[in-house]
Order: sequence, then structure tokens, then C-alpha cells
Amino acid sequence: MRTLILSDIHGNLEALEAVLADAGAHDALWNLGDVVGYGASPNEVVARLRPLAAQNVRGNHDKVCSGIASIAGFNPIAAEAVEWTREQLTPDATEWLRELPAGPISVSGVSLVHGSPMDEDFYIVNIRDAWLPLQGSQQPLTFFGHTHLQGGFGWEEGRWFEVQPRHVRAAEPSAWTLQLEPGRRYLLNPGSVGQPRDMDWRAAYIILDDVAKTVTFHRVPYDVELAQGRILLAGLPEKLAKRLKEGR
Ligand code: ZN
Repeated sequence: MRTLILSDIHGNLEALEAVLADAGAHDALWNLGDVVGYGASPNEVVARLRPLAAQNVRGNHDKVCSGIASIAGFNPIAAEAVEWTREQLTPDATEWLRELPAGPISVSGVSLVHGSPMDEDFYIVNIRDAWLPLQGSQQPLTFFGHTHLQGGFGWEEGRWFEVQPRHVRAAEPSAWTLQLEPGRRYLLNPGSVGQPRDMDWRAAYIILDDVAKTVTFHRVPYDVELAQGRILLAGLPEKLAKRLKEGR
């Protein structure tokens, strides 16, 4: 089974369309949250994703934009985007976001969460953050998002390691495959579809092949100028447009 795993789309329809086109045929789609917030196409992204996603977990922006969590703690630019998104979202889209389950959830022996398995809003940035979840995990394989950084961490008896996908930095699709080894535990992040922060502006995603036991990290270019234009025309903060091309 080939599973397309996405996270942090953030209302970026152009990036989502590029990912869906590049990923090709797959048996299932799992979404790790932050469907909306920052980008200028929240309703369109919900409408496109909703019938495709077999599994979802909620992100912090999904909670705040649908009104089930407070805006407190968001920086001024993120908060401005939340206010705008709340005004734009249809009642139906708001309701769907509100109903998304909290992670972690377990699917086919794999764990899915937005932030950390121990706290859905926690950022796993380094091995210190990954340590307890790796020790405590009941599943060998956990997928998380939230940091917008593609890659992750692993553990096998007596040692830990980082998973750092190597991509060709060019305006074309590229892929990097990790072979899953028995006896190891993995915490893996597909990266962000709609607002990458690892200095590579291209949309990020993962394909999990549970027969070949591989996880392939992908990057695909998309029409970033169109996404930027939509943000500017929507009256959203200019920085949210600028950062897309900077990949941070
Ligand atoms: Zn996010």
C-alpha cells in the first residue's frame, strides 16, 4: 500500500495541487493537520482535501481558526491570519475543522500526530524533543508535523540518529528514500506542503510504502508567485507572501 502523507498545507491551494499531481496514484492519504491559517485559500483547500483524506489529525491553526482554541500565544502576524481565515471560512468548513480528531491516532500500526505524541501542540525540533516520544512510543513508526521541517529522528538499542533527507536544490521535483529497518523506531516529518521552513521553498510530502518498507521524502515546485499574489490581494500580511519563496 502506498500512502501519501501531508502536513501543514496552511491554505496554500497551489502547493496542494502540485503535491497531488506529483504524488501520482496512491491507496490512501493521511493529513497531519494545519490545513488552514496563513494561506489565502482556506475553503478551497478544505474542499479539495476533505474527500481525499482517509485520516486526519488536527493542528493548532485548525483549532484556533475554527474557534475551539484561543488565539493567545499566536504572534501578531499569525493572529492577523487567523482573524482573516475565521471570516473567510464557510460554516461547513469551520465545522469540519472543529471535528478533526486530536492526535496521536493509530492507523495500520502507524501513529499520526500534529506536534508530539505526548502533546499535540509541542514542537519536535531536535533529539532532546524527540527523546521521550521515541522511548515511550508503542509503534515503531510515528509521523508528525508542526515544525514545517522535513526529516526526523530515530532510535535503535543504544543509539539515536537523525533523518536528514538530501535533495537536489533545483526547480524540479526530487525524492530521497529511507529504508525502514526492523528493530528501529522512527519519528518522521513529511515537511510542510504550504509553508516550508527548511530553506527549500518547494512543497514537501512523504510516500510510505508498507510493502517495500520505505519512506520517500519528496519536494516539488509549485506556482509560488500565484500563491503569493493571492495572499497580497487578500490583504493578508506581506511577510506571509514573502516567506513562501524564502522557505522559512
Ligand atoms: Zn503549521
